[in-house]
Amino acid sequence: MKIKILHKNDVSLRLLIKGTNSAFMNTLRRIVLSEVPSMAIDDIVIIENSSPIRDEFLAHRIGLIPLTTDLDTYNLPEDCTCKSEFGCNLCSVSLALEVEAEDHRITVYSGDFKSENPSIVPVNLKIPITKLAPEQRIRLEAYARLGKGKGHARWQPVSVCAYKYVPTISVNQEVCNSCGDCVKICPKNILIKTGNIIEVRNINDCTLCRDCVKACQKDPKAIAVTWDESSFILNIESTGGLAPERILYAALNLLNDKLNEFLSKSREGN
Ligand code: SF4
Ligand code: SF4
Ligand SMILES: [Zn+2]
Repeated sequence: MKIKILHKNDVSLRLLIKGTNSAFMNTLRRIVLSEVPSMAIDDIVIIENSSPIRDEFLAHRIGLIPLTTDLDTYNLPEDCTCKSEFGCNLCSVSLALEVEAEDHRITVYSGDFKSENPSIVPVNLKIPITKLAPEQRIRLEAYARLGKGKGHARWQPVSVCAYKYVPTISVNQEVCNSCGDCVKICPKNILIKTGNIIEVRNINDCTLCRDCVKACQKDPKAIAVTWDESSFILNIESTGGLAPERILYAALNLLNDKLNEFLSKSREGN
């Protein structure tokens, strides 16, 4: 298998992966979505809430705020040695929210939370939670813990994890009359007309929609869009709690553990 980084920044990663198959890519995708843990608020004690949002909605909104995640320090509650339903400082982080609109209307933001651990905080401090009219107030204690996307979407570490085949586009210049219909219809501006020649650029952005093929009036078609079934483009977009490469690394470790477990259990069965 050969891997090339096409794009990377703090929250997104785009890889070209050659020499594998869709079964492996889908396994990786599903592990990223449902098995890689991330931190989210799971329990809330509301002491006072005179905001226009009722308690259940408030708790739901707060639960969906992405938090920075530390997979090296914190344990999943089910794996923690404390075995306590209240958690300990290795499996639970408390965040307090105490806001009051005194004499003018205010907006309560994710950044108003005060965390007991400064490394576990909302990823974005400007996520609006609610507005408060004068004299309205919220006082609550929230408890964040690691969890998995298969338990609830709030623990999904990514907003996107998707793959596609690597496209191959060819134009038969002997059949093509340079009408430009395929160029005009392409939603990704991948085809360009240079003189009488149709050229392809940024091919990895092609969505394989094949609209260009449908638009071609020639019979047989002068343009063909196919794909290589052993090469993929993987896109990972983190919610910001974990770096995308850390998510991928954790997913590969989990896959490795699953395969080792499968092997040892199948040996036991023989
Ligand atoms: S398949 Fe779709 S995205 Fe790709 S070149 Fe054709 S029209 Fe553009
Ligand atoms: S639509 Fe067909 S004939 Fe027209 S430029 Fe494209 S490939 Fe050539
Ligand atoms: Zn614990």
